[in-house]
Amino acid sequence: MIFQQALVGTSGSNVKLHNLRAILLTLLRHQNISRVRLAELTGLSTTTITNLTAELVAQGMVAEMGTEHPHRRRGVGRPRRALQLVPGAGHALGVHIGVGSLRITLTDLLARPLTMHAIAHELDRSPREVLDAALNSVNAIVAESGIAPETIVGVGVGASGLVDPLNGVNVLAPNLGWRDVPIRQWVAERLPYPVCVDNNVRAMALAEALFGQGQGVAALAFVYARVGVGAGLVLGDQLYHGAGAGAGEIGHTTILNHGDECRCGNRGCLETLVSEPALVAQARALAAKAPDGDLAHALHATPNDRMAAIFAAAAQGDAATRAMLADRARYMGIALANLVNVLNPDLIVMGGLFAQGREWLLPATEATLRKCAFANMGQRARLTTTTFGRDVGAIGAATLALSAFFYQQIDSMAH
Ligand SMILES: [Zn+2]
Repeated sequence: MIFQQALVGTSGSNVKLHNLRAILLTLLRHQNISRVRLAELTGLSTTTITNLTAELVAQGMVAEMGTEHPHRRRGVGRPRRALQLVPGAGHALGVHIGVGSLRITLTDLLARPLTMHAIAHELDRSPREVLDAALNSVNAIVAESGIAPETIVGVGVGASGLVDPLNGVNVLAPNLGWRDVPIRQWVAERLPYPVCVDNNVRAMALAEALFGQGQGVAALAFVYARVGVGAGLVLGDQLYHGAGAGAGEIGHTTILNHGDECRCGNRGCLETLVSEPALVAQARALAAKAPDGDLAHALHATPNDRMAAIFAAAAQGDAATRAMLADRARYMGIALANLVNVLNPDLIVMGGLFAQGREWLLPATEATLRKCAFANMGQRARLTTTTFGRDVGAIGAATLALSAFFYQQIDSMAH
């Protein structure tokens, strides 16, 4: 079965394609619903629903699974047969480009990973070499998976820094030294699937909105801190890109007027205070003052994962480490309070360091956010960490492809 062709080839009209996508999207959001309810939610006639769902069932994309959940039914009468999306009927590929690391996944239609590959990349390698390594891995994953390549609905790439999603170009990635890298073109040259490219934190935000804790949330912010710091904003189920696709660059908001110089050229950016390099520099200074302390020992014992060492020292009760992390977390709290004042989100989901070390970073972040945000907005915004863990970037990238497949055409991104 070839979905792209099945959907387009049998439609004969854009209206039918649009209706099919509306049905799939509604089934994505409401698992287990009847045809009658599907008609209500999509605004399509029951005849249209009956005909189109019959096609989707025949394609294996949708299945009848028991009866509709009782609370979704109104009135009395015999139970209605429920329809469900078949998660394994289609697949998406996700490529997360981090600073020094790639994570690549193959997922089902609900963005659940079937495989997850992690590859390190040296920062002196060219963008082309990094992309080639990623695409070699993608081809290997597809070959090993045994799935029919025709079931792959698309490939999503989450890139670092400023990304133009319309043209699929990584305009600027200061932490990689990349400029104007035509990612979509390079991927399309080697893979026969539709390609979506966006900023990697924006992709994570979309994953939380569609498949994670942000389902049904009106305004969601995903904040990620690792080597860089950024945010993705999802408003009313749509990624918010801003005029120049730069919305969410929270890492480069100025926190200290005369602070350290940032890679962006500005001084005192949030990123210079709460990113991994910033925390490691703080920790090294602390360890130098107490060479026999828990922190110095932890950094020595785990040289390849310095953040894990820092959090381990905090877990062992090292007071100076805990104080340093809480102090840094307050800067993030200030940035989140500013974000809340502008966006008034229902939910802020944090990933990267703030998920890995949530026990040591989140309390001070949250307290500062609650204290500094205007009126009661800081109280209303729920603050949590991603449940996707370290896979959030790759799952996010796959979500870009799934989102495009289900409904969001890239040309609707300009809000
Ligand atoms: Zn900056």
